[in-house]
Amino acid sequence: MLSERAKKIKPSPTMAITAKANEMKARGFDIIDFGVGEPDFDTAENIKEAGIKAIKDGFTKYTAVGGINELKDAIIEKFRRDNDLVYERSEILVSCGGKHSIFNLCMAMFNPGDEVIIPSPYWVSYPEMVSLAGADPVIPPSKEEFGFKITAGDVNEYITPATKAVIINSPSNPTGAVYTPEELKFIADVCLKKGVFIISDEIYEKLIYDNQPFVSIASFSEDVKKQTIVLNGVSKTYSMTGWRIGYAAGPKELIKAMTDIQSQSTSNPCSISQKAAVEALNGSQDAVERMVEEFAKRRNKIVGGLNAIKGIKCIMPKGAFYVFPNVRRLLNKRFGDKVIKTSTDFAEFLLDEAGVAVVPGDAFGGWNYIRLSYATSMENIEEGLKRIGDAVGKLE
Ligand SMILES: *Cc1c(COP(=O)(O)O)cnc(C)c1O
Repeated sequence: MLSERAKKIKPSPTMAITAKANEMKARGFDIIDFGVGEPDFDTAENIKEAGIKAIKDGFTKYTAVGGINELKDAIIEKFRRDNDLVYERSEILVSCGGKHSIFNLCMAMFNPGDEVIIPSPYWVSYPEMVSLAGADPVIPPSKEEFGFKITAGDVNEYITPATKAVIINSPSNPTGAVYTPEELKFIADVCLKKGVFIISDEIYEKLIYDNQPFVSIASFSEDVKKQTIVLNGVSKTYSMTGWRIGYAAGPKELIKAMTDIQSQSTSNPCSISQKAAVEALNGSQDAVERMVEEFAKRRNKIVGGLNAIKGIKCIMPKGAFYVFPNVRRLLNKRFGDKVIKTSTDFAEFLLDEAGVAVVPGDAFGGWNYIRLSYATSMENIEEGLKRIGDAVGKLE
């Protein structure tokens, strides 16, 4: 019954662990959930009001496929204000979440036989979407010692005549790595020289700590901009994951192709959500600041707590809301008659024995790691750390 395409695709493993944790919660188990990939804050009141107003005003019909001009203009203004990038409406596409933007991009850009460089650990959807488009993911591993970042030299080494694009995700899901402007500049130079497109997923742009600057790789020069597609959205910055608004900015020709693909699949993103996203981008940014302050405190707490557990080593991430601790020293240990062989085994052990949900690093191409999201309360973080410590103490 199924197409070859459908047979190849893997369901999102991050969703799988959340589903299992939710099922256990529903059965009455008390689960501390570090699996979640969304902020635990509520969408701000002014944004909700804008959505309610859209409904009341009857703004509930089809819109232009690629997004209403009001939202495109808010996005253009955001790029100008935050990233020193100047785009026109024809260079912007609004889609049903950042994930949908990337999907449209893969469909519009890749042919069978194209290679796409995706540094690991990577966000789970990149290789799957690249494969769905018929292209081949090529995965250079990053090193923990280098903060889970690849270098321009790595990119250069992995480029072949078939390489179409490289995907950079900074700040990163799952590692929280943030590339410095200089590192990005070197990568951009290599891509320019070799004629490789840059796909820059900047969805965690605002979730960045220690007063580091955020610089969009597209902003280095007009030449780099022409060869870069920037992906962003309101999901993470504004706690709007359920509203489903993401956007892409890039060369007109590509944006048009992506828009045409969208026109034959989902049509426009939700009209109500578009109005809310206008308010998110144009309105007060105070809630974002408060969220970042709170995340920074939790980050310190969870990194300190994990490093205090024997066998776990966790570097301090620079952005997003994830930590990616190394658990290699706990693998091949025993719990009763079970051997914990992989990070997936370890995640299952934590869920079953400690009532703690984490995502195995295997899912992200980071075999000796687990991912914990600190988009949960300080209380939960403290309790979760205690439970992990107790459970790990039972391994022998
Ligand atoms: C969450 C996320 C996205 C997009 O999420 P949407 O909810 O679809 O907007 C894109 N890239 C990465 C790396 C993410 O973690």
